[in-house]
Amino acid sequence: MPIDSGAAPITPHKAFPQAIRHMAPEALLNAEERERIRAKSALFDPPAARLEDGRRELVGMRREEIAAEMLAIGEKPFRAKQLWHWIYHQGVTDFAAMNTIAKPLQAKLAEQFVIGRPGVTTEQTSSDGTRKWLFNFRDQQQVETVYIPDHDRGALCISTQVGCTLSCTFCHTGTQKLVRNLSVAEIVGQFMAARDSYGEWPTPKGEEGRRLSNIVVMGMGEPLYNYENIAAALTIIMDHEGIALSRRRITLSTSGVVPMMDLCGQELGVNLAVSLHATNDALRNEIVPLNRKYPIAELLAACRRYPGASNARRITFEYVMLRGVNDSIAEAHELVRLLADIPAKVNLIPFNPWPGSPYKTSTPEAVRAFAEVLNDAGYSSPIRRPRGRDILAACGQLKTATERAKRA
Ligand code: SAH
Ligand code: SF4
Repeated sequence: MPIDSGAAPITPHKAFPQAIRHMAPEALLNAEERERIRAKSALFDPPAARLEDGRRELVGMRREEIAAEMLAIGEKPFRAKQLWHWIYHQGVTDFAAMNTIAKPLQAKLAEQFVIGRPGVTTEQTSSDGTRKWLFNFRDQQQVETVYIPDHDRGALCISTQVGCTLSCTFCHTGTQKLVRNLSVAEIVGQFMAARDSYGEWPTPKGEEGRRLSNIVVMGMGEPLYNYENIAAALTIIMDHEGIALSRRRITLSTSGVVPMMDLCGQELGVNLAVSLHATNDALRNEIVPLNRKYPIAELLAACRRYPGASNARRITFEYVMLRGVNDSIAEAHELVRLLADIPAKVNLIPFNPWPGSPYKTSTPEAVRAFAEVLNDAGYSSPIRRPRGRDILAACGQLKTATERAKRA
């Protein structure tokens, strides 16, 4: 069943003044810019979280919102705690399965509310175990979600927008213009639907033994341009009485929306990944156009003050290896110099080509030589293994392939 969009996004005036009080002066200077980003983001709000028959979507509501809904229908607010348990710990989608709630109330809830999931357009599993979904929402918009296994654990790569306003030249999503932001329900829904697919309800006890053990916010879209919704979604996912995933198991990747990075660290405290991809502004301006607004020096300054970053919790710098563009030994040395005073690790990503892409993947020798410079300088720099190539696992590709097939 397709889900409706989530609860109303949190409006700027509700944004966590507590966190802002503790910010570094440079971060505070960004406040005005943040408001501008939020106002622009609101233009791409998802549709309301209500079905045509008037029922409201419970997934994506904050605890307090559920409590308020219960009061509004003449029930006690503690029902919110029970519902939370059934929705996010047990993973049920049917009120009739909630055996701590009496039948008449179950029926009353079912008249007013739904517990939805995204619709599944396609689900494919690669020979290497990578599983990929194309999910659809009530307004027929679609996004991709990918599960990347790692022995008995794995990371779910979730999307935050349909398309992207930015247009990084090597990125397939960058060729699709931004249609809209995803709602809280649509973001949390990707994780819940993946858990359905692996039969991983109720929430496994403790952090060990979960197949869906980690989340990387690295799918379609720029998460920090849909901050309110991704923040609310991750807050739900981290809640101890539900999915209960630790912030240490969540990594958010940004192309460098500097004014929002401070907020992300203060409020969510998740691991940060930064899509650097170049070591000088001239090249980064070209391949990550957002660099023209927030150049490398500003971006690295924001990384230096990122709360929670330490040698034990390093910031990941993503570096897509483009043949003859950014993969020279000199650039590897420059990267080492740039990251000198930041608790960093580097993730070298072999460029994943897509039809019509203007780049080639760096040769394995070039990747190895580049990695060696980093390793010699003391950086752990895992080379991301290409996964799921047989199911087009590169960001944005499954969606385009499906649309093309539909047109044909
Ligand atoms: N918008 C965010 C998160 C989504 S992209 C960001 O840019 O960080 C997640 C990662 O995939 C980014 O590091 C991005 O640069 C990288 N990426 C995008 N297209 C790619 C491709 N074709 N091959 C390899 N990596 C790619
Ligand atoms: Fe958007 Fe990230 Fe792709 Fe750049 S790399 S176009 S920011 S999704």
